[in-house]
Amino acid sequence: MNTSTDIAALKNRIPILSLIGQGVTLKQDGREWLGLCPFHQENTPSFRVNPDKGEFHCFGCGKGGDAISYTQLAHNMTFPEALHYLQERWGSAATIDTNTSSMSHANPSPLPTGPQRPATDASPAQADWTQRLRGGQEIAGTPGEDYLRTRSISSLFATASRMRYHPRWFAKPEKRWYGRPAIIYPLIDPTRGKDALVAAEGRYIDGKEKTDKTKYHKAQIAGPKGAGIFITPEALTQTFLIITEGPIDALSLAECGIPAIATCSAQNQPPFLAALCRGKTVWTAFDPDTAGSNGTQTLAATLATAGIQSHYLRPPEGMDWNDCLCVYGRRAMQSALAEHFPNIRVIM
Ligand SMILES: [Zn+2]
Repeated sequence: MNTSTDIAALKNRIPILSLIGQGVTLKQDGREWLGLCPFHQENTPSFRVNPDKGEFHCFGCGKGGDAISYTQLAHNMTFPEALHYLQERWGSAATIDTNTSSMSHANPSPLPTGPQRPATDASPAQADWTQRLRGGQEIAGTPGEDYLRTRSISSLFATASRMRYHPRWFAKPEKRWYGRPAIIYPLIDPTRGKDALVAAEGRYIDGKEKTDKTKYHKAQIAGPKGAGIFITPEALTQTFLIITEGPIDALSLAECGIPAIATCSAQNQPPFLAALCRGKTVWTAFDPDTAGSNGTQTLAATLATAGIQSHYLRPPEGMDWNDCLCVYGRRAMQSALAEHFPNIRVIM
C-alpha cells in the first residue's frame, strides 16, 4: 500500500464527479451520485460515486475504488500510467498546497521496515538503515525534487517508489561525501515480503565534484550491496520484468509507463532475481557499456541455469535510459519501445 502524501494530495485535488462524469451520466441521490455502470451492462443504475470520500462503487459488478483505480479501469492503464494521466490533468506535485507539503516534511510517512516480527528480532544493522531512511523527507519541495527534475523524473514517481530526500546523508564515514545532501531509497527483497527492507542506498546530489564521467553521483549504501532491489510501482505485477542498472534508469522507464526494477549496479545482482523472473518475459536493460554487457551475460547465465530465458533491452549506443528520456522525451521513448518491444505494454 502506498502511503505517499504526494499521491494523497493528488487524489484530494481530483474532483471525482468531474472525472467520472466525463464518461458516465450521474444523478444526485442524497450524498451520493448514481449512474449506469461503465464496467458492466445494466439497465438499472447501481453505480454510485461518493464525492466526500472520493470513491466509487458498483453494486452490480462489485468494482469500486478511488480516482486512480477508476482511471486504471476506465482506460485500461497500469497504476503508473493512471498517475501520469491524472497528474497531467490535475497538476504536478510541485503545486501541492504548502500546508500539506510542510506537514509532510515534519511528519515523514512511515517507510517499509521489513516483515512483521518482534522488535527484538531486528538486527542492529537493519535498525540502523531503517533509521537512516526515516530521517529522510518527502521529495516534493526539496532539492531532491530539483535534482530529479534535471533528470526529467517527477517527484510523484520517485515518491511512489519510496525515494526520499536527506539533507545530510551518512552511509559510511567516507571523507569526500560524508554528510552531503542525497536522495535515498530502500532496497527490497520481495521474496521475503512486499516491504522487506534489506538495505538503503543514497545518491549524493551535491554536484560539486561531478564530472562528465561520473554523471551519476557517487552512491553510498547502508547494508549489504546487492542484497535488494529498487522497485517502481507495479513493476512486479506485470507479465514482463525489466531489470535496469540503478534506480534512475528504472524511474526513467516508469515515467514512460513501463514499470521496472533496478539492481544497485550491473555487477551486484541479488540471489533472488531468478525467483522473481520465473514465468515472466524478462528483459535485462543494463547500460550498453562493458559493465552493462558483463552484467547482462552474468544474469542471463544465472537465469538460464534456472531454466529462464532473458532478453537484452539495450539502450542506444552511448546512452542509458535516463539519457533517452532527457534527450528524446517520454512520448518518443514510448513509441520506440512499443514498436521494438511489443511485449512491453506502454500507454500511447
Ligand atoms: Zn458494474
